[in-house]
Order: sequence, then structure tokens, then C-alpha cells
Amino acid sequence: MIIQLQPDISSKQKENLIEKVNGIGYKTTEVKTQLGDYIIGIGKKEFDIRKIGQLDGIRDIHIVSDEYKLVSKKWKAKPTSIDLGDGVFIKDGEMAIITGPCSIESEEQIRKVVDHCVENGIRMMRGGVFKPRTSPYAFRGMGIEGLKLWHSIASEAGIKIVTEVMQTSQIEEMYPYVDIYQVGARNSQNFNLLDELGKVDKAVMIKRGISGTIEELLQSAEYVFSGGNEKLILCERGIRTYEKASRNTLDLNAIPILKAKSHLPVIVDPSHGIGIRAYVPQMALAGVMAGADGVIYESHEIPEKAYSDGQQTLDFAQSARLAAWIREIFDKRKTFDLL
Ligand code: PEP
Ligand code: MN
Repeated sequence: MIIQLQPDISSKQKENLIEKVNGIGYKTTEVKTQLGDYIIGIGKKEFDIRKIGQLDGIRDIHIVSDEYKLVSKKWKAKPTSIDLGDGVFIKDGEMAIITGPCSIESEEQIRKVVDHCVENGIRMMRGGVFKPRTSPYAFRGMGIEGLKLWHSIASEAGIKIVTEVMQTSQIEEMYPYVDIYQVGARNSQNFNLLDELGKVDKAVMIKRGISGTIEELLQSAEYVFSGGNEKLILCERGIRTYEKASRNTLDLNAIPILKAKSHLPVIVDPSHGIGIRAYVPQMALAGVMAGADGVIYESHEIPEKAYSDGQQTLDFAQSARLAAWIREIFDKRKTFDLL
């Protein structure tokens, strides 16, 4: 169960409440986020909700049977809206477009992608400065200096920055320069990292693990939420299956399922999802039709020269066309009475 507390609950009232909840056989955890105070009760015993609901200091009480609690739609039917400032949102009812290279490579490259975003009304740019690479000999990113450079150029153009954080020690140094911390597929269950991201007040986008289930993705989000940060976005980026014809298997099923289970916005990443440039647009549009609140895809002036993931990266002409199609399909989607 989730017990939402009144902001002015006294410590005596809280103690009394915890005692009562423990008394019915539920284990309690106190959660304090930037937006509210909660007590999470874990247990299975049947009980009369009125016994607790009438106690002082309680705002609301919800029975949530899911393993994850705070990210569940069962207690918060209203979708979560992520406000990045300057009129940029990621939320239900809008279509977020995030594009940019796999890796940030140079000042010249940053300027070209920023211009491409501005020209196409795209307000969020992706790019890695800390790159998780399968081989230690591959390009591993420009690091914090690259991020600073990127920030100085992007912020001037009103472009928000989405970039991966790989370890806890990077959170603080990155903080002034990021708008959305991306947790990569390889770190989807790095619980130390998730705990620490619970302490920041900037948005966090969690990618699904390489072999992660939908439930595991939601539990990862629960870590950040229960750590204090409610500004969360979920990202479906494909999972590893027996199929070898594509880089990953983009699990489009996950999109409506995540939207139904959670109040958090859901983004689709067709680039890593299929890994083949020619088919990225199809999978992006399929993701939009499946109900995604946004698309994140890789683009580069000359994909063949990209330092990483060139094979799945669109050039600017392709990206401009895709952005227009995404908006068109999203407008169409609104006319369907999908669940
Ligand atoms: C990326 O976004 O470039 C990336 C490394 O993604 P993922 O963690 O999904 O593999
Ligand atoms: Mn990539």
C-alpha cells in the first residue's frame, strides 16, 4: 500500500501511523521525494482500510498490489509530466523528439547537430560523452569537457541535453550541464547509480536492460522514485533475443503495457532497437503508433564517419523527414480511440 502523508504531519502522528501499519503485519518504508511524503507498506494480509485511513496526518491511502508501487498507475492515474523549462516537456498528449549522435565528437559536430535541431523545431539533443563500449579499445567519449562544450553551444540555442551517466561519481560533475540523465541499458539495474539519481532534482531517463523485463524496468524506476526523484522517463530500446538479423528486438509490446502499468512517460529508441539505419524510421513510427510519448534516435551529418553506431544513424535529410513524419503520425494517432 501507499500512504500519502499530509505535508504537516507531526512526528508523533507518523510514529503512530507506522506502528498501526506494522501492527497489521506490513513492513513499512518511509519515502520522501521532492514532491511528497509517503509510507510504503509491504505485506499481504487482509485488513480494514478504515483502520488506517482515519488516522490524522494522512492525505490518501491506496492499495497497490504491483511489486513496484510509486511508479504504478494504480495510485496515480494522472500521467506524469516532465517539465524541462523553456516550454519543453515530455508528457502524455505531446510528442517529444530527441535526436543527435551516438557520441559527442567535436565542437564542429555539436554545432552542426544543434543547427539541425533548431532548423527542425527539435528541442532536445542526445549524445554520449561517457560511452559504454563493448570493446575497451573503441572510442569512449569526450568526457566532462565535451559535455561542457556541448552545453555552452546547446543552451544558447535553447536545446536541452540528454546524455548518459555511467557511474555515481559523474552525477555531480555533470549536474550543471544536463537536462536529462540517461541511464543506459547496461546500467539499468545498477542500483547504486539509481539510488544516487534519486537524490538529484533533474529528470532521469531509464533504458530497459539488455535482457530486462518490463517489470524490472519499472522496479528500476521505483528505485529512483523511492530515492526521492519523481522526474522519470522510461525508454524501450530493444532487448536481446535469439534473433540475429537485427541488433536487438525492439519490443513494441512494452510501450502500451508500460503506459497502462505506469504513470510515467514512455520513449521509444528505434536506433538501438533495430540497429539498421534503413529501418529506423519504420520502427520509430511504429513506436509512435504503439503509444510512445516520444522518440529518441541517432543522427549525424555523415553517419558513415560517426565514431560509434554509424550503421544505425540517420543523416540530417533523413532525420528531418522522420521528425516531420513522427509529428504527422502522432496527429493521426490522436484520431484513433486507442486505449
Ligand atoms: C546510446 O544511447 O547511445 C546507448 C549506449 O544506448 P543503450 O544504453 O540503449 O545501449
Ligand atoms: Mn548509440
